[in-house]
Amino acid sequence: MAILDKLFGSESGRYVKGAKGILQKVQEHKKTLATLSDADMREKTATFKKQLQDGAGLEDILPEAFAVACEAAKRTTGMDPFAVQIVGGKVIHEGSIAEMRTGEGKTLVAVLPAYLNALSGKSVHIVTVNDYLARRDAVWMGQAFAFLGLTVGVINGQDDSYIYDAGHREQDQQRDDAGAYKVVYEFLREAKRQEVYQCDIVYGTNNEFVFDYLRDNIAYNPEEIRHRGFHFAIIDEVDSILVDEARSPLIISAPSNIPASHYAQFTKFADTLKEEEDYTIDEKKRAVALTASGIEKFERSLKVENVYVEGAQRTLHYLHNALKAKSLFKRDKQYVVRSDQVIIVDEFTGRLQPGRQWSDGIHQAVEAKEGVTIKQETRTYASITFQNYFRMYEKLAGMTGTAKSSEEEFYKVYKMPVISVPTNKPIQRVDHPDAIYQTHNAKIRAVIEKIKELHEKGQPVLVGTASIEHNEALSKRLKRAKIPHEVLNAKKHEREGEIIAQAGKRGAVTIATNLAGRGVDIKLGGATEEESKKYADTIKELGGLFVLGTERHESRRIDDQLRGRCGRQGDKGETQFYLSLEDDLTRVFGSDQVKQIAQRLGLPEDQGIQNKMISKSIESAQKRVEGHHFDARRFSLEYDTILDTHRAEVYTRRKKMLYANNIESLQEVLDEQTIEAAKKKSADEYMTELRAKVLRSIDLAWMEHLELMDYARSSAGLRSYGQREPLMEYRKEGNQLFSGFWGYVRELACKPTPEEGGK
Ligand code: ADP
Ligand code: MG
Repeated sequence: MAILDKLFGSESGRYVKGAKGILQKVQEHKKTLATLSDADMREKTATFKKQLQDGAGLEDILPEAFAVACEAAKRTTGMDPFAVQIVGGKVIHEGSIAEMRTGEGKTLVAVLPAYLNALSGKSVHIVTVNDYLARRDAVWMGQAFAFLGLTVGVINGQDDSYIYDAGHREQDQQRDDAGAYKVVYEFLREAKRQEVYQCDIVYGTNNEFVFDYLRDNIAYNPEEIRHRGFHFAIIDEVDSILVDEARSPLIISAPSNIPASHYAQFTKFADTLKEEEDYTIDEKKRAVALTASGIEKFERSLKVENVYVEGAQRTLHYLHNALKAKSLFKRDKQYVVRSDQVIIVDEFTGRLQPGRQWSDGIHQAVEAKEGVTIKQETRTYASITFQNYFRMYEKLAGMTGTAKSSEEEFYKVYKMPVISVPTNKPIQRVDHPDAIYQTHNAKIRAVIEKIKELHEKGQPVLVGTASIEHNEALSKRLKRAKIPHEVLNAKKHEREGEIIAQAGKRGAVTIATNLAGRGVDIKLGGATEEESKKYADTIKELGGLFVLGTERHESRRIDDQLRGRCGRQGDKGETQFYLSLEDDLTRVFGSDQVKQIAQRLGLPEDQGIQNKMISKSIESAQKRVEGHHFDARRFSLEYDTILDTHRAEVYTRRKKMLYANNIESLQEVLDEQTIEAAKKKSADEYMTELRAKVLRSIDLAWMEHLELMDYARSSAGLRSYGQREPLMEYRKEGNQLFSGFWGYVRELACKPTPEEGGK
């Protein structure tokens, strides 16, 4: 226990100290378990299940269940969880976020709470950022779960799904692969989604879990249903999913039939409006609002008395989009125009996202503004944001290397505290102070110099850039300087993983956008076990991996993510950011203050300086930007919540109808006449027919409701010029719209179809 005492003697926080008691119990159980045979170990799962059925709580069995999971991991993967990993497991079990640095072994940490919580018989979802990681982790950790008699499944894109199945393997062979990263595909057998969701543990990407939920809610047959409840989700890289991607809605849609000329018309009109006089812009909230004068002009152009009367909302929506496209969507920032297309630039990674489209007609408005061919708008059948999806789980937890700086957001939005778990070994990473330059060019020259120096010395360097453009520009400069390097901006995650895994080799130079290759570990010396064993020490002598940031990202968290690439498991490592007064962040958000300081100090043109005051004020600029982003996310969540309550009600009732097997349950939305008519028509089949009719009506009404809500949102926003509060307006109007929902469904469902003599 000496090591533990040392660990907890540090200032690692009250939480970790408080966990000491449980940790001791786990360690004691582990000692006993070590002597059990494999068969006896496996028995434990059944014993726990029985205990739970007999009324024991999860907390009662936690110490022994964690110990069993540890022992199983040790016997199968060769990894025996460290004390800090057990603490991390407890944090996750409690529905919090375990902040554990890159390389601390979070994949293994998740096994403990996942095992414990799956004992209840309900499945545990482990959410990863890409398909590759879902498969890798399932194969890697599947060994331990399978050893304990639990089933493991994988949910991938393109409707691919698998079940982990290593039935034919001998225990000893399994041990050979200990800790291997390789995804051994032969252990994954293809399976239907429905079957995969029956597994105790389901690994999958955030997108796929959400899409399956949406598909379930437009299903016409109970057999199509995939999910079987939202019990417990452990989200890996939780900040990327719940913060960076929180607002992106996932949408199931089909093409609509709005003519392209429509958009151009509104773009033209928007061009005649003047900022301030006719409309105002709120950059922080990314919102536009019409002034009284703007509304008047619009009414005149449409030749209507009052644009807020029913029916005109649709036109307001288009105007709103055109104004947003005009004033908030900037070319080469939010998007680029290439070969007659508007291509979205990912706000966090700076990567181009061909194929992706903004929803609700925004994309078309931007296309109209740029004069490129307008793609057909789509009609939304079902949609939900990550925020709203993940809030459905009875228990939600997460893990990541970087969460502390978004702690407030995690708590306020998801009620998830963030607990920093200390590292297994003392940190040896050296974070050098920022090197600050007057101009961008001077900075880049210095960056190239530094890379050259490191490369010649043999110390591997990972260079982080905030955008794909800078990434490519830097690569060109390095080519000119004849420095061999790898560029990481590939769209394929698997390839990304391979490149980043090699970034720790002697003399390696790797340029990556800040977030590339999340979830993959950089081993000093090289990716394979042998390479790493052979060369790691040499690299350590050289100082370990050097992480060089070429600009600050708008969020500290993303910078931390980059820094965290080195110094894993007590390795040596160095980090440094090279900044200039011409960088976006300094220029836009901290310019005056920083420039003043620089002037006072007489910052030389071509020479870098290290100055605490400048670094501080850059940091505070960063905090301000983060604050804006947080506000924007909270603001949009408040809007989403209104629609979310409608969605919850509609989906709950829809599901009830989907499973309905007697007429009474459908009577809520059908009248006697319709039921009688159906009965006459086909004596066996009428239930199925009526049910389909009801479901179709709900879907149709819901689709229209989604559109009306969109319009209501635009028009509430546009009206904010007066004393009115847009959110309240939207809530009032939204709820009013929804109050007619079921009546409308009934109307649709009871209307005779054309064959039945309707029109
Ligand atoms: P993280 O997700 O926290 O960045 P990973 O789960 O990818 O980390 O694990 C990083 C590395 O640490 C892997 O190579 C893994 O094999 C190793 N590792 C994790 N836990 C242990 C352990 N208890 N004993 C030995 N190696 C471990
Ligand atoms: Mg990981």
